[in-house]
Amino acid sequence: MKIHEYQSKEIFSRYSIPITRELLCYSVADVKEATHKLGLPVVVKAQVLTGGRGKAGGVKLAKTAEAAIESATQILGMDIKGYKVEKILVAEGVKFNSEFYVGLTIDRNTKSIIFMASKEGGVEIEEVAKENPDAILKFPIDPDLGMTAFMARKIAFALFDDFKLVKQAIVLFQKLYTIFLETDASLVEINPLVLTDEGNLLALDGKMTFDDNALFRHLDIEAMNEPTVDEQKEIDAKDKGLTYIRLEGSIGCMVNGAGLAMATMDLIKYFGGNPANFLDIGGSSSPQKVIDAMSLLLADKNVKVVMINIFGGITRCDDVARGLVAALDQMKVGIPIVVRLAGTNSKEGLEIIKHANLPVVETMSQAAQMAISLCKDCMKTA
Ligand code: GDP
Ligand code: MN
Repeated sequence: MKIHEYQSKEIFSRYSIPITRELLCYSVADVKEATHKLGLPVVVKAQVLTGGRGKAGGVKLAKTAEAAIESATQILGMDIKGYKVEKILVAEGVKFNSEFYVGLTIDRNTKSIIFMASKEGGVEIEEVAKENPDAILKFPIDPDLGMTAFMARKIAFALFDDFKLVKQAIVLFQKLYTIFLETDASLVEINPLVLTDEGNLLALDGKMTFDDNALFRHLDIEAMNEPTVDEQKEIDAKDKGLTYIRLEGSIGCMVNGAGLAMATMDLIKYFGGNPANFLDIGGSSSPQKVIDAMSLLLADKNVKVVMINIFGGITRCDDVARGLVAALDQMKVGIPIVVRLAGTNSKEGLEIIKHANLPVVETMSQAAQMAISLCKDCMKTA
């Protein structure tokens, strides 16, 4: 889960990491008032859940109240990488000498949290990462020791010569690590961390993402979630006991068990098709679950065929079949469905499916191939 810059900085300031004075705005009138309160100059910043706002024209320095209003008018409603700007952050315009990059993330290679730091912070950091990766220093943090004063000092000396700054940085880096741990973050980033004309370190921007599976421990953070349409579907599915991930293809999959769902997707790919989703309806599947799963698939306009692949262990195939028939009775399904049932009560299940005039296949491979050919047919007629 991602949060906005203003929310990340709110968390930073809880841990007394210095941030700019700033106010969140929803309208041009808000921006006018915020500018008045903060004093000139101000920086007007789009709040969207994507990076590179500066380059997209979503961050503007304003030296007069009129300029702030003009920038706000331009930025509100703007589209940045598919995200519409509905909130603006007005921050005091800070004078600074240099921009640094610091970030924490989980590194699977070193099996640890890794601290990244660069003297070349600012909007070009992606370029730096590509063209000059050595300019981004990486420090794996020993999980048993945590961010020791020694390690924080080592990182600080890599960025700063001035001992006064090193001292500030040590405290800041240790706090950043504490935030990472205590919030179950998967990314914490300050870009740029600036050295102000007064000689202080200040977080000018902030970015945080969190481990979704740990959000139950952080209800305050979960409350900040602003899911996209697709993400909301995934959340709704989870509430109904389904695990759903939307993909780009056109073959809707309904499968019981994550492993079988992966295998099904692999098989569709193997035979030249493209799965529209990952959907695991779980172990014991009641008819209601099948109905919920079917509605989820049909709501996706990309889905041209549905492939149902059930292996009955705890799940009883006749239950799934009944659920499916009930679902088809309830909703208008205008697309072909292919069903493969195997395992517990498959005989009973297949009887029910046959009665409902649905094509029945014996093996997974047959099901995938049939789904692909039906899919091609309906692509032609569409
Ligand atoms: P991003 O492009 O989405 O990462 O947005 P940032 O918040 O990092 O802003 C982009 C750039 O705008 C920064 O790298 C700074 O150079 C500049 N900027 C942001 N805030 C200020 C400010 O208060 N004063 C000045 N002079 N420049 C700023
Ligand atoms: Mn930035």
